Amino acid sequence: MSREQKAVECARKAFLTGRSKQTDRHSSEAGTQLYETLGLEGEIVLAVKKLAEWVAPRPVEKNLLTISDTVYIQPEPLGVVLIIGAWNYPWAVTIQPLIGAIAAGNAAVVKPSEVCVHTAKVMEDLLPAYIDKELYPVVTGGVSETQELLRQRFDHVFYTGNSMVGKLVMEAAAKHLTPITLELGGKSPCYIDKNCDIPIACRRVTWGKYSNCGQTCIAPDYILCEPSIQDRVLEEIKKSIKAFYTEDPKTCPDYGRIINQRHFKRIMAMTEDSTIAIGGDSDESTCYIAPTVLKDVQVNSKVMQEEIFGPLLPILTVSGVDEAINFINKGEKPLALYIFSPDDKVIKKVIAETSSGGVLANDCLVHYSVSALPFGGVGNSGMGSYHGKFSFDNLSHLRGCLIKQLKMEGVNDMRYPPHTAKKLFW
Ligand code: NAD
Repeated sequence: MSREQKAVECARKAFLTGRSKQTDRHSSEAGTQLYETLGLEGEIVLAVKKLAEWVAPRPVEKNLLTISDTVYIQPEPLGVVLIIGAWNYPWAVTIQPLIGAIAAGNAAVVKPSEVCVHTAKVMEDLLPAYIDKELYPVVTGGVSETQELLRQRFDHVFYTGNSMVGKLVMEAAAKHLTPITLELGGKSPCYIDKNCDIPIACRRVTWGKYSNCGQTCIAPDYILCEPSIQDRVLEEIKKSIKAFYTEDPKTCPDYGRIINQRHFKRIMAMTEDSTIAIGGDSDESTCYIAPTVLKDVQVNSKVMQEEIFGPLLPILTVSGVDEAINFINKGEKPLALYIFSPDDKVIKKVIAETSSGGVLANDCLVHYSVSALPFGGVGNSGMGSYHGKFSFDNLSHLRGCLIKQLKMEGVNDMRYPPHTAKKLFW
């Protein structure tokens, strides 16, 4: 079996054992394949196909002094990478950085999130069956195990999770001057222009928001729109919720659950001071929260104070695109930013006047699937990026190489003392 076949087989097996994830997160089998393992297979195939190109020396432009020399960038492995994964898409966020680490020639310690206890166990059992267990060990355990790992010296730490722990990771890495990648989250805004096709926009927003029960790092966190379209937006989201998850999402196999009671309580507390326009039902014993939309939400309401990471969708009204941009710019830089508009000028204006990890117009989430785009945050939503060649470059040292010949010594005369004006302006 070739290296590529072996890796793809491992990803497929991960899908087949995706039932562990259903136990952890109430995710459907088809959902696991769609949102996680298909993307991993694509990344594996791409890395194997492009590896020879990625590892090759990259010639660069020369200046006058190096015109007859060999000047190039040589990617080289960093050494040992620590990969700390999160629970919301446990395969994607843990194995995808591992693909980059392996492609770049590193060893890696894989630490899956303890929150998905069954998935962590499957990963611990499965990876050694397919890849070298000495080079890529899996370490399971909780916060104390992660902290112990962080005390060790690595050559890169790749962390996916929340910003608060991101700061602890950065602090620990600083002790060894270890470079890091932080894949964090934040409140990703979604501006809906009154002139767009509202039914299509709402269908796409509903999908982006309620997939995985809102527990997606790039889920649209809240909607900004003009007051004149708020009711239509509500109506269309309601229709889409019904079309995707039936009248009773609780019994729909495609609708997820909140990961645990701590998060359930955190999310439910966010609804306290806002008006529920759609949904709002919940069941603590099964961590069920219905797809919920909050209307006329105020900036200082609880739901606007932190990343929701659950199935609540607040709508805030603004007077137009300028106010939407001002609003976005008052917050931390988000991981994703969504604009729905038929007008290219509106889209380009929002892109030019804001900053975010990534930006997507007229859809949600799908920029994640484009391996040719860097995926990562900026500011509070993270640092560093990955996917495709970006994973390879991020987990490599790009070494600058200059090879001269021991000839043409006359050219160097001007740089040797004594420094005289005559030499400089000859
Ligand atoms: P989590 O609780 O699974 O934590 C992630 C990892 O951090 C775990 O492996 C855990 O062991 C470790 N950890 C937790 N507390 C720690 C501590 N005190 N010290 C050291 N290590 C510790 O995941 P989470 O943080 O709840 O994940 C959700 C967050 O992750 C959201 O903010 C989401 O937006 C973000 N996220 C970002 C991406 C991305 O690609 N940018 C992807 C998924 C999730």
